Amino acid sequence: MQLLRLELKGFKSFADKTIVKFSPGMTAIVGPNGSGKSNITDAMRWVLGESNVRQLRGQKAEDIIFAGTEKRRPMSTAEVTLVFDNSDKRLHPDLAEVALTRRIYRSGESEFYINKKACRLKDIQALLADTGLGRDSMAIIGQNRVDAILNSKPEERRLIFEEVAGIARFKMNKEESLRR
Ligand code: ATP
Ligand code: MG
Repeated sequence: MQLLRLELKGFKSFADKTIVKFSPGMTAIVGPNGSGKSNITDAMRWVLGESNVRQLRGQKAEDIIFAGTEKRRPMSTAEVTLVFDNSDKRLHPDLAEVALTRRIYRSGESEFYINKKACRLKDIQALLADTGLGRDSMAIIGQNRVDAILNSKPEERRLIFEEVAGIARFKMNKEESLRR
């Protein structure tokens, strides 16, 4: 499963439609402070299902929509598409490529699409389950996350290992069944 392309339009600092293509191997994105590098990973986390705006370094849902500049009016929607090569069929049995799209309006309303077909967030979560790409996965590690891991107490660090090892889900299930 390989990442092929990320398309952004109206997401944070990316007002114009921007396409980032990923070739096989390693891709590095470089640029001065504040040029939008972290916004790119925020966009990926968002389209993969992150719904807590604080995790995307915002206060409210609208903060991820292009807010405008002196010369340019704010935009009314933000849209991000992440395209995976699916020739190994890991994400879906019949699709050669899987394109996940998320759009948000200033009202806070969100729309989700799999290969341009409207779906629910749940469908995207189900598609990503057990691929290591879900919302709480360690596939994307932000700047502050590294500090948090290094500075965490042993018990907190243990939770991170449990999450990576895929145990967290079972613990959640266990706690839920004990509550009943
Ligand atoms: P650093 O090297 O410091 O980590 P970076 O390249 O990761 O920088 P980002 O944090 O991705 O930079 O980008 C920050 C920029 O994005 C800021 O200039 C900020 O004004 C802009 N920005 C964030 N949200 C919006 C928005 N909703 N509309 C317009 N611009 C935004
Ligand atoms: Mg950054």
